[in-house]
Amino acid sequence: MAISQAKQILKDVFGYSSFRPTQEKVVEAVLNKQDSLVLMPTGGGKSICFQIPALTLPGVTVVVSPLIALMKDQVEALKVNGVAAEFINSSLTESEQADVIKRALDGKIKLLYVSPEKMNSESFYYTLLQLNLNLIAIDEAHCISSWGHDFRPDYKKLGYLKKQFKEVPIMALTATADPLTQNDIVVQLKLHKPAIFKDSFSRPNIFIEARPAYKRKEVILNFIQRREEESGIIYCLSKKNTEDLSRYLKSNGIAAGFYHAGMPAEIRNRVQNDFINDRIRVVCATIAFGMGIDKSNVRWVVHHNLPKNIEGYYQEIGRSGRDGMPAHALLFYGGKDYNILAGFNDESERKVILNARLDRMLHLAESNHCRRKLLLNYFGEWTQDNCGECDNCKGSQSLFDGTLLAQKALSAVARLQNKLPQNILPHVMTGNRTPDVVAGKLDSIKTFGAGADVSTDDWQRIVNQLVSLGYLKIDYQLGSILALTPLSNEVLFEGGKVMLHRLDEKIKREKKPEPKKRVVAPAFQQEKGLFERLRQLRRTMAVQQGVPPYILFSDATLAEMVEERPTNEWEMKDISGVGNTKWDRYGQAFVDEIKAFLGEKSNKAKPAFQKTYELYKKGLSPEIIASQQGINVITVYSHLATLFEKGVAVDIEQYVMPYELMEVKEILNHQPNASLQEIYETAKKQIPHHVIRLAMSLLKI
Ligand code: ADP
Ligand code: ZN
Repeated sequence: MAISQAKQILKDVFGYSSFRPTQEKVVEAVLNKQDSLVLMPTGGGKSICFQIPALTLPGVTVVVSPLIALMKDQVEALKVNGVAAEFINSSLTESEQADVIKRALDGKIKLLYVSPEKMNSESFYYTLLQLNLNLIAIDEAHCISSWGHDFRPDYKKLGYLKKQFKEVPIMALTATADPLTQNDIVVQLKLHKPAIFKDSFSRPNIFIEARPAYKRKEVILNFIQRREEESGIIYCLSKKNTEDLSRYLKSNGIAAGFYHAGMPAEIRNRVQNDFINDRIRVVCATIAFGMGIDKSNVRWVVHHNLPKNIEGYYQEIGRSGRDGMPAHALLFYGGKDYNILAGFNDESERKVILNARLDRMLHLAESNHCRRKLLLNYFGEWTQDNCGECDNCKGSQSLFDGTLLAQKALSAVARLQNKLPQNILPHVMTGNRTPDVVAGKLDSIKTFGAGADVSTDDWQRIVNQLVSLGYLKIDYQLGSILALTPLSNEVLFEGGKVMLHRLDEKIKREKKPEPKKRVVAPAFQQEKGLFERLRQLRRTMAVQQGVPPYILFSDATLAEMVEERPTNEWEMKDISGVGNTKWDRYGQAFVDEIKAFLGEKSNKAKPAFQKTYELYKKGLSPEIIASQQGINVITVYSHLATLFEKGVAVDIEQYVMPYELMEVKEILNHQPNASLQEIYETAKKQIPHHVIRLAMSLLKI
């Protein structure tokens, strides 16, 4: 099956003109019947990877998905694109399920979403045997790993699929960056020689910012007020926080709600639906909120409290900007939150690991280094580049050349391979014979005490930075032992420089002044009028259709409409995200709205004299121009005069006799403010109105 056919379907059904680079490779692998593991960040475009093969190949694709909300969202999105898609899960009655299965068996369904429980049931196994399966896609595949953060026992059983359906390619997809989890997925699903695709986990459209927890409520209110109409999520540590904050925002006129696990399911669903359908624009929530929400136009995420670890933080901020448009992540941090979270960890058997991960989160929050660089290094995407799109990159970083210090530390790690825990390295550097140092014989190396000019505390800060910056890594499973990374060699042997932030800087818990710069409005907002109108139309139509607005068209698609202003079918279908079905169902209404907008605008800004000019350029006389436009010839002369005054090259002198020009000049010398009619009277009605008008223009220049 040719990839060109897949591309045609991408355009016709989804309205996208091309695959993203990894998508194309994944689709090719499936068309070649290969198993695959697809690792892409949120918003990376995973769904297309299995949806396109599903539509290109004969038969049906079964998609395993862990959450009812996720399935519903994807099936709705497919249906508005005219794709035969359905789901089977516990939200359907027995007879509804039977109906879907019957239609699947009749070959009437191209994509069938199934919960893992259903997938593992005996009855469904017999259905699977009868279906013409072209692909099995396992979405959110990290749920299979007990190491990961969303472990689901039912996922573990999915390993039987490869044994039973050897001929059917399996695709596992996840946005989890953790290499241990990735490995687990391949092993447990028994994937056969899988093609592994990994995109960068960087989300460059999300601006990342962290601030000390000071006057959070006020800062948050201000932050929201500056973002008119934009949806966002505020993550809080406690249920009470969510309720208090939501009340505060509401009392300040913001359409906000709260969401936490302590609420009845019914009310939680209502809040979630209100948010998805743009009826409220802010949700104050505990981390229970967001799983399974595909809303693509969340424009910002605020962390009212320090998150427990970087994985969770990254996943949460990742819920913003899924449509690829600019988004903003604002994090508050403070010692109090840290202590509360560390207190929770005390009760766990995994206390050491949990605290280590919490520490990394705090380092990220307190750091003066490029935050995206720290995040990517945390996830093993070793990089030394600054992103330019975080608060630290935009602000001034007070850094010093710490290469020599780094070299000392790295060489100690190199010499004490697999032996040196993170918290002992500072003692090795300062030459401090603590019991641990002596027991591990860590004082035998040449670099022992090589950094005695720096205090142990400062060394701890240096080590933290070296880890955050990716020059060292920590194996938490082996008692926080340090190891070198691909970046270390550059520093040790290739003259690479290491910039560190100043050591005497304490955690700044005092107020950081509000940045003076205005938040740069995303490009699409600069044409607020049209964007607002299209957004309004989208909302109205979404209500009529009973789907969330972002499923009808994403913010990115609306933004492109604002940019391109399509006014007919072909132009509209050129917009990314407008496929054939969406054109048929909604396209004309959007074209009409754009036309109406342009029409109103042109009445004001694009005056009729432009039309006159177009005809004038064709060499037509004023009389003919007037008759073609159905206007008075005097008006045409007036248009020409206006054009001349605007500096357009029209020759109006040809219509004015020299003596007429002289006379008008004379009159204006005596009465500089004379109106056209007054000049006409003074000249004893000898000079026609239009000639006076032209003469006045000639004299103005
Ligand atoms: P993920 O499941 O990886 O989070 P999605 O599949 O939801 O990502 O896709 C994220 C966004 O990117 C969606 O708005 C989707 O419509 C858009 N998208 C995906 N693939 C393409 C493409 N080839 N061209 C343009 N937009 C795309
Ligand atoms: Zn940066």
